[in-house]
Amino acid sequence: MAEAASLIERDRSRRVALVTGGSRGIGRATSLALAKAGYDIAVIYAGNDEAAQECISLIEAEGAAAKAYKCNVADEDEAKATVKAVQDDFGPVWALVNDAGITRDTLLARMTDDDFSAVLDVNLKGAFHMIRALSRGFVRQKGGRIVNLASVVGLSGNIGQANYAASKAGLIGLTKSVAKELAGRGVTCNAVAPGFIETDMTAKLPEKTVAAYEAEIPMKRLGTAEEVAQVVAFLASDAASYVTGEVIRIDGGLCM
Ligand code: NAP
Repeated sequence: MAEAASLIERDRSRRVALVTGGSRGIGRATSLALAKAGYDIAVIYAGNDEAAQECISLIEAEGAAAKAYKCNVADEDEAKATVKAVQDDFGPVWALVNDAGITRDTLLARMTDDDFSAVLDVNLKGAFHMIRALSRGFVRQKGGRIVNLASVVGLSGNIGQANYAASKAGLIGLTKSVAKELAGRGVTCNAVAPGFIETDMTAKLPEKTVAAYEAEIPMKRLGTAEEVAQVVAFLASDAASYVTGEVIRIDGGLCM
């Protein structure tokens, strides 16, 4: 559950970004890129306290204020309470990055209902929970940025990832619907679709699989979390004020 609210001492001229899954991998790189770009950061994570605290220290070293919140985004009540705690601590949130994601890869015949629901609940419903909880604030302040972490498999599908690909395709539909609904209020909503990026998530893949993907990727290498974070930071910036409902692939050319 969210921690008890306590006002954070910070420079109020800095904008606030809430990054789910912000403690590790692409989310951590995004938190750091946004901190460098002038944001203070609320980091949402699922359970790895050590990674979250390490990330907070790295963000603070960039001169930004930061606090970590343990919250399962799939749980509606926890998500709502955490958004309230972040707003109480930091004030209004300007950017939401929905990065929290999990995989439970297996072939269709072996995929259980639980494998399917768990992935949909975190990757898709979690993003919906956060967007809904923050939408009133975005509308009130007549502006904001939402960036959702989709995936190229949400565009092309993938063997062994029926649950994950469905969640990411759903996220793209959610992105475009929210973009249309909130465009008139000055709020943009975009998605990025990374290909294969070096993080703990892909470290689970067998070496043979990684080598096969590398051979297929026109740029002949996996991407880095920082390369994804730079695009997310652009979408969260004033420079992207007329970009909404877009899905930007970051995949070394894999799915063109
Ligand atoms: P990662 O290294 O596994 O990190 C996942 C992050 O999400 C962690 O901070 C984790 O917190 C958090 N998280 C997981 N479940 C959560 C939940 N229920 N509630 C709140 N936070 C939760 O993942 P990644 O590889 O950086 O991927 C980040 C995003 O990019 C995901 O949405 C993923 O689907 C997407 N993506 C990744 C790749 C890739 O190749 N890596 C490609 C395309 C798309 P804890 O540390 O506390 O567990």
